[in-house]
Amino acid sequence: MNYTSYGLVNTQKMFSDALGNGYAVPAFNFYNMETLMAIMTAAQECRSPVILAVSESALKYMGSRMLMGMISGLGLDGKTPIALHLDHGGSVDACRAAVDLGFSSVMIDASKLSIDENIDITRTVVEYAHAHHVSVEAELGILAGIEDENTSSTYGNYTNPDDVVRFVHATGVDSLAIAIGTSHGAYKRKSDDEKLRFDILELIAEKLPSFPLVLHGASSVPGKLVDIINTYGGDMHGARGIAPDQLRMATSMNICKINVDSDSRLAFTAAMRSYLTQHPDVFDPRKYLGLARDMITQNCIDEIRTIMNSENRY
Ligand SMILES: [Zn+2]
Repeated sequence: MNYTSYGLVNTQKMFSDALGNGYAVPAFNFYNMETLMAIMTAAQECRSPVILAVSESALKYMGSRMLMGMISGLGLDGKTPIALHLDHGGSVDACRAAVDLGFSSVMIDASKLSIDENIDITRTVVEYAHAHHVSVEAELGILAGIEDENTSSTYGNYTNPDDVVRFVHATGVDSLAIAIGTSHGAYKRKSDDEKLRFDILELIAEKLPSFPLVLHGASSVPGKLVDIINTYGGDMHGARGIAPDQLRMATSMNICKINVDSDSRLAFTAAMRSYLTQHPDVFDPRKYLGLARDMITQNCIDEIRTIMNSENRY
């Protein structure tokens, strides 16, 4: 089914507006009804565009029929900037299947392959997706993090600015995830002093001045959520994300989409741990799942306001 029948939009207009106005569209991952509702409530309350991101494992967890049933249940109008996006599609087949299901945007992640193989696979996905007016994101550089910086080239695992123009032109891709020092997960850095490589971002933006760039692994890992988890029996000491001011600075440059997954997971876990510990007699899941949903909503609102700068955009 085509995504327009779900009232979804692709990311084209979202990104041109974000690029022109110095903000980033948040891409929040979800994996069940509570996380989807939480993101939607935050987006509606802030009037922020939003990208609903689904990983391949989340798709498997929900099941495609249940997932698309929930998207249908949102009752979208096709005018509000809300996209459904496959996060880190690992193969051409996975991306094609997402397009056929009704996704309005897909990411093909062939970043671990050589640049020529990455170009070939990405171009194949672009041909299929564009025939259905679906947006495509690709990735160049390795988002593994600071410790893996052990290759001999000048840029290590960071995105090499000399590659981006060839990659974008050869593939026809709509946006590009770059590696400038972010990494996935809740343990991103050893100290708060580690900074993103804005020098590389600037070089890339100079070569592609009006092209949307994407930051993955950009959860800020709010200390207050980690503290709640640790207070109520968890052990996440040393969890540390990207400082919000660094992310906010990236949005004022060419970063048009910022992915957040870990922060919602932290909010979910903090709610569950604190509620169940404080209410040992309660066994109604709506109580603690409801609190989890509310805490994710609050975290999304905070990030829309302090990091994305995407409030009141429609
Ligand atoms: Zn990612």
